[in-house]
Amino acid sequence: MEVPVPGGAPFVAAGHPAVYVAALSGPRAPARATEPVGTERMKIAVVGTGYVGLVAGACLAETGNDVVCADIDAGKIGRLNAGEIPIYEPGLEPMVERNLREGRLSFTTDVAAATREAEVIFIAVGTPPGEDGSADLQHVLSVAETVGRNMPADGPEKIVITKSTVPVGTANKVRDAIRRHTDRPFHVCSNPEFLKEGAAVQDFMKPDRVVVGVESEHARARLAELYGPFVRQGNPILFMDIASAEITKYAANAMLATRISFMNTIAHLCEAVGADVGLVRQGIGTDERIGPSFLYAGIGYGGSCFPKDVKALVHTLRETGVDPAILEGVEKVNAVQKRVLLARVAERFGEDLSGRTFAVWGLSFKPETDDMREAPSLDVVRGLVERGARVRAHDPEARHEAERHFADLLAEGRLALCEHNYDCLEGADALLVLTEWHSYRNPDFARIRDSLREPLVFDGRNLWDPARMVELGFAYESIGRASAVPETAGQGAGA
Ligand code: NAD
Repeated sequence: MEVPVPGGAPFVAAGHPAVYVAALSGPRAPARATEPVGTERMKIAVVGTGYVGLVAGACLAETGNDVVCADIDAGKIGRLNAGEIPIYEPGLEPMVERNLREGRLSFTTDVAAATREAEVIFIAVGTPPGEDGSADLQHVLSVAETVGRNMPADGPEKIVITKSTVPVGTANKVRDAIRRHTDRPFHVCSNPEFLKEGAAVQDFMKPDRVVVGVESEHARARLAELYGPFVRQGNPILFMDIASAEITKYAANAMLATRISFMNTIAHLCEAVGADVGLVRQGIGTDERIGPSFLYAGIGYGGSCFPKDVKALVHTLRETGVDPAILEGVEKVNAVQKRVLLARVAERFGEDLSGRTFAVWGLSFKPETDDMREAPSLDVVRGLVERGARVRAHDPEARHEAERHFADLLAEGRLALCEHNYDCLEGADALLVLTEWHSYRNPDFARIRDSLREPLVFDGRNLWDPARMVELGFAYESIGRASAVPETAGQGAGA
């Protein structure tokens, strides 16, 4: 079958996607003589300067490209131009500073000019869940419209790449949105991003793999060139058809979320029979077919990706007539898990927590990030306050985010944010650990024990060894492991 590609050579696509992939991964065809391939710095626009766009922009500049990051958020661009990095991400700040200083990176609110002048345009705007759980594509398509409206009459054929996580079929909508405004040839690609917040720079610079959905040889060749410096150690660039690339991102996140909900289910079984989920994890994680990653029981997944991507995939499956039962189960387990510590607190202290104070360590949805989107801490802190308690919380990086997410509770005096983690403890009825920050791993246990009203810890991240906690005099509850109660403490410490 010959697929006509706007502006590109007809691309030979076999009926079966696997054959299509093989064809794309084959020997590289020579670039057309009219294209200045590899002769000058690639001009790149990254539209959307959030976690993904900023990291991608900085890393693409770091490898020598000429990158402009564009965003409609004037405040964010102003801060970036003043050298201020709006997110916490290890290694990002010096990289942005260096590339700004050396002139490879710039920031603008002029999205139209940025796309007009670039050869390669990454769309990295947000795709939040719509009311029905589907990914809201309004930002992606509005950028596509801008690209179409600002297509110059000459210059290299533009390559428009969706880096945002978008449902299968979105590339067609992006193509249509651009095509409405221009007859010029251009190329549409899907290049989902797999970086992890907290290790985003490292993940982008040394990806396990780069997935690129393309439909023209020209785009394939240019992207192979662009990503070459990032895969010098031999990790693959997987070229495939666009639909497969779009699905790959959701499949990856849904698989990881499934592993987490699966282990949380096993944790409940362990608790019911007195087994230890940590040992079960080692038992299965050493099986090569399973592997050790994402097998940690805890208080559920959060963040800006897993919850929304699982929801969006459920929506796509339903729309396509495929039974989403497995992912509905994943979501159901996670919703329960986010509130599991609240249930434990209620078992100890009853439903009415008036007059009680709880210390909380960790608010971000995982360590090494300040991101609190869909974090379990949102459910736990609000749940405690709704039952009448006061909360004193600490997070090494998410203080600003916490001020935003909990503005109401802070104003009402129901929540206080502490400068140091030990400041939360004095006179509190218990400590709840919600994020496994490194700095919490080896704390001054005597100080914790002596500061709390009762030495009681609810650990949602299994940071510490139950037997040791008992030796240290704590009543200690964790996930998927038997409760540990020192003989002298009796049941219901602090109740
Ligand atoms: P974000 O919310 O941090 O940033 C999105 C940015 O896009 C914001 O700064 C916003 O102002 C800007 N924006 C919105 N509409 C715009 C427009 N029309 N023109 C220019 N800018 C516009 O989002 P993020 O976390 O960077 O995620 C972006 C996409 O990448 C999402 O689809 C997400 O699912 C995906 N993704 C995120 C991660 C992650 O870890 N955060 C990882 C992989 C993929």
